[in-house]
Amino acid sequence: MQYHAANTDSLMTITNRPELVFERGEGSWLFDHQGKRYLDFIQGWAVNCLGHCPPEITAALTEQAGKLLNPSPAFYNGPMVELAGLLTDNSCFDRVFFANTGAEANEGAIKLARKWGQLNRDGAFEIITFGHSFHGRTLATMSASGKAGWDTIFAPQVSGFPKAVYNDIASVEALIGPKTVAVMLEPVQGEGGVIPADLEFLKALRALTEARGILLIVDEVQTGVGRTGKLFAYEHAGIAPDIMTLGKGIGGGVPLAALLAREAICCFVPGDQGGTYNGNPLMTAVGVAVVRRMLAPGFLAEVEARGQYLAKRLLELSAKHGLKGERGSGLLRALILDDERGPEIVQKALALTPFGLLLNAPRPNLLRFMPALNVSEAEIDQMIGLLDSLLQR
Ligand SMILES: *Cc1c(COP(=O)(O)O)cnc(C)c1O
Repeated sequence: MQYHAANTDSLMTITNRPELVFERGEGSWLFDHQGKRYLDFIQGWAVNCLGHCPPEITAALTEQAGKLLNPSPAFYNGPMVELAGLLTDNSCFDRVFFANTGAEANEGAIKLARKWGQLNRDGAFEIITFGHSFHGRTLATMSASGKAGWDTIFAPQVSGFPKAVYNDIASVEALIGPKTVAVMLEPVQGEGGVIPADLEFLKALRALTEARGILLIVDEVQTGVGRTGKLFAYEHAGIAPDIMTLGKGIGGGVPLAALLAREAICCFVPGDQGGTYNGNPLMTAVGVAVVRRMLAPGFLAEVEARGQYLAKRLLELSAKHGLKGERGSGLLRALILDDERGPEIVQKALALTPFGLLLNAPRPNLLRFMPALNVSEAEIDQMIGLLDSLLQR
């Protein structure tokens, strides 16, 4: 098949895409229209947690596609009920609302917190978020995000999201007032540059929000579902948040997200929340397959071990090339460069022959790694070898 410029010109420009079309994926590898293959350490932005086209997802999709696609969110369906049960049985939360994207799940979290504030906190509605945070691309979630410039692109913002300083508990305390209903954060700031919250900071946040009678919301769209070596990243801190959102990995590549909350917070009444595709069995059947795989004996321990191995290999590279180390949690990691070569390295990695390497630079001075959670040590070694050659000056 031929791809003409005219074909791609029909798409709205929302990012600068390379001149290639991906046709097929398998595990840690992607294949383009010319048959060139690429070692994928982006995986759809931490989305394909079991790699490209894993057999359990293909099976879940084909089986469910022949049975029932969408009876409407106004009715129960089997996979929806099963996945909700799997999530509540394995977390500190009691109820789930399914959504299609991380941003939509976060919108739901914001709505739930505001409703709870109307009922319990005299109309309090402010949600404290953090500088450099990322919560999505809807108007409210862009307003909640702490990305530079996002306050003006589509002005006016949705109000009510004062920004504190990540890992600085005093900055949060200083913002709490009578209008505050919640604090919302990512356990690891992914888009912000793979910056983990200190476990002590998370514990202090939980204590502070509890003492002040406000909610703690964790946005685990990027960190949830095994990415950090635990099913959910909040578990590392031994805390129990009030609300959590999931996205990305829970769908293993298909559009699925979730909003989870503890019973006392679940104050939506019929009419408050919904959506045409929410909880449809085609997507939730995939979620069931993904979560079952995460819960299989030894899977999360393997992620933890693979994360440590990746960290070790990145540190070696850093030492060899005089870079500034690495950081992250589980298989969400970053290599810190000593200059702003990130985007250039990403381009060169893509263009490598005979096969390319897919990397991401959320900031010019660092490279982010979010491979499949079942990536092999041999694939990590291969990636390190390619990166080593790219780092030679
Ligand atoms: C990706 C991401 C989102 C947005 O998810 P979408 O599915 O793209 O809407 C929200 N929060 C975090 C932490 C993310 O990494």
